[in-house]
Amino acid sequence: MNKISKKLAAYFIISFLVLETILMMYLHQNIIHTRVDEEYSRLLATGSNHRNVLIDYYSDETVTHIILMESEGDRGVVITGKNGKIIRSSDAKLETLLPSLSFLQNPTVQKDQVIKPDWEDSPYIISAHPYKVDENNSGYVLMFQSTEPIEQLVRKLNFHFGLAGVAIIIILFIIYSILSKFLTRPLIRMKEATEKLSEGKFDVSLPAGGNDELGELSIAIRKLANDLERMKKDRNEFLASISHELSTPLTYLIGYLKVAMRHELSEEERNHYLMIIAEESNRMKDLVKNLMDLAKMDELAFLVSKSNFSSRKFADDIYRLVQPSFALKNVHLDLIANKDFQIHADPVRLEQVVLNLLDNALKYSNENTTVKFIISKEQKRTVITVADEGIGIPEEQIDMIFEKLFRVEKSRSRTFGGSGLGLAIVKELVEAHGGSIEVKSEFGKGSEFTIKI
Ligand code: ADP
Repeated sequence: MNKISKKLAAYFIISFLVLETILMMYLHQNIIHTRVDEEYSRLLATGSNHRNVLIDYYSDETVTHIILMESEGDRGVVITGKNGKIIRSSDAKLETLLPSLSFLQNPTVQKDQVIKPDWEDSPYIISAHPYKVDENNSGYVLMFQSTEPIEQLVRKLNFHFGLAGVAIIIILFIIYSILSKFLTRPLIRMKEATEKLSEGKFDVSLPAGGNDELGELSIAIRKLANDLERMKKDRNEFLASISHELSTPLTYLIGYLKVAMRHELSEEERNHYLMIIAEESNRMKDLVKNLMDLAKMDELAFLVSKSNFSSRKFADDIYRLVQPSFALKNVHLDLIANKDFQIHADPVRLEQVVLNLLDNALKYSNENTTVKFIISKEQKRTVITVADEGIGIPEEQIDMIFEKLFRVEKSRSRTFGGSGLGLAIVKELVEAHGGSIEVKSEFGKGSEFTIKI
């Protein structure tokens, strides 16, 4: 279950232990070397002191005095004479070591130095100090320092470092449990929350969290939950609206069909009802086509294939297509396309957008008013405006007109027709071009739609 925390702890503990071992080994070696160096220097200093005294006051008494000085403690001295002969030693045990000192057979040591530095393998470290009083009285003052104090120090160090190692491991485990509590518990809760989301339960409750990545993740999951819930609600509402949209005209159709099938109807009356049936069927066909367009856009199957084409020709073609409908309703259509320039867009989709806007403008305009269709270029963008002097849109509803199946007052659709999908499609198409759409409207005075792509 707690896999992340285990992984985290393993990485953390291993890296920490490796680092700690390296540091401890370095410290351990350093302390011992410093201590051994100190012993060397002390031994050399004492030995050279004895040697100087021996040279300055050479006599049996001086020799005895030096031997006496080193007869206590963990140090010892051996004074040799000509040909390596031992004159005196502070401890008889030390004399047994001399045969192993090869340099005495062939004395080449001309100045004070440590001649047996390997404290790890030998019970003593030894320094040699040559002296020469006259031809007959010369040799070495050999200083011996027991390695026992150093070994004691090593044993103590090993014990303390071991203790520190164990303490660090215990502390690491405490840190691990704290970490797993504060770091991985929120992660586990988020995992549980996302599992709940995938089961369709959107009421996830996650703690607010801090300003860090975990806090941000928690906010993102809560936002996702809200979005999913809203989408689910939207989808249900959308489905309900669609079934309503489809069932209303179907009810009319069935009603009119029943009436049209009556025998006693005159030819003229039957034709009248058949016309209504045809009109309603067309409206349903348009509605289904629009719905399919929207579904394609939602699936991102909607591809915009852009090309360059003339703005003048594009506007003229549209004008020619819609002008008769405007004339029929006695609405004046004013095309303003001053300059000809190249539009970079999908011509079919852009035509669909403009036709939708012009269709709305005509639908919501009264007789003897003007609709302006303006096409121009602003910096590098194409700007198309459709402005009418029609019934306008109430201010509080302007933001909603791009929503699917939204219509200002449902009763309008009965008067003007329309399904509430046109502007939703327009918006998707404009955005698929990377463009934007704006609307300005005053209720009762007119509306102005501007697209920029
Ligand atoms: P519809 O097919 O119903 O016209 P749209 O999506 O094209 O659907 O428009 C949504 C709603 O916005 C319409 O029902 C209408 O009330 C309002 N509307 C759109 N264009 C205009 C306009 N030019 N003048 C007034 N109202 C408009």
